[in-house]
Amino acid sequence: MKPYSSARDEFKGEAEVFLDANENPYPSPYNRYPDPLQWEVKKKLGQLKGVDPEQIFLGNGSDEAIDLLIRAFCEPKVDAILQFEPTYGMYAVCAHVNNVEVKSRLLDPAFDIELPDASVISDSSIKLVFVCSPNNPSGNLISEEKISFLAENSGGLVVVDEAYIDFTQSKSWVTQLKRYPNLVVLQTFSKAWGLAGLRLGMAFASPEIVSILNKIKYPYNVNIQTQEIALQTLNRSGDKDSRVKEIIAEREKMAKALQSLTMTQTVYPSDANFLLVKVNAAHDVYQRLMKIGIIVRDRSNVKPCKDCLRITIGTPSENDRLLQALKNLS
Ligand SMILES: *Cc1c(COP(=O)(O)O)cnc(C)c1O
Repeated sequence: MKPYSSARDEFKGEAEVFLDANENPYPSPYNRYPDPLQWEVKKKLGQLKGVDPEQIFLGNGSDEAIDLLIRAFCEPKVDAILQFEPTYGMYAVCAHVNNVEVKSRLLDPAFDIELPDASVISDSSIKLVFVCSPNNPSGNLISEEKISFLAENSGGLVVVDEAYIDFTQSKSWVTQLKRYPNLVVLQTFSKAWGLAGLRLGMAFASPEIVSILNKIKYPYNVNIQTQEIALQTLNRSGDKDSRVKEIIAEREKMAKALQSLTMTQTVYPSDANFLLVKVNAAHDVYQRLMKIGIIVRDRSNVKPCKDCLRITIGTPSENDRLLQALKNLS
């Protein structure tokens, strides 16, 4: 297909008079269309992540990248995606919206991928394998050798969703893009960067894959304000690092405190900014917390997460409020 092309895509250089896009000429911060390919943000991001700007796709949240990957690489009613449950819900939602089948395997009791799985390799309908690492809602990293196995043996693309990568010491799969041409790595500004309300997500991949995503996205999918704030935020990445440190320290404190409650069966190890906690009568606990204005995520209906709550790490005072409330419940 031929993608949408604006006059400014075709023109490279410094222009002074813009009479091509039917904009309002009177200056305001937003009277001009944004850069469709967000080059300023990508240059800075590329330096930070050690990749070329051409290896970066930016979207309206990483959810946009998930949707575009499925639309680009899966034929409706013919192809499928593969996911490992329990995991992030948007892979299946985007697949279903696009009439693409969802094939699922259960993670093992430690929430790691069970391999070798011959059916993963022989099933040529699977065009995208989604691996969430650290995984939502379990919080753990998927082991390196399992992801390598998938990247080496899968017939399609392997998409590693690293929404929580900043909360772990482990290396990003971005470093492996040269080695695996079928690898796509998703990251987001919504978690560690603290910009969930802004809506900005990243996909890192080969320039070939990135150019396909760029071809099918809405031309101006990331607005001017988002691009500006993202750039400012990237220029102060030390702020993110110190917040992440605080959150990790709170996570360790909360894991111990939650483990010591009588209602707690298991606090699962976490490399993310949340804890999956198995408690007695989880759904009841969830509802009683809600009544006093504390919202956690009830995962007790999710098959391998029976009686589990997913608790986001908040500020120290929010975390203390939760702990106090849980003590009062038991
Ligand atoms: C929160 C989250 C995202 C972020 O999605 P955005 O659209 O970028 O806000 C992506 N993947 C996982 C697994 C998440 O938990």
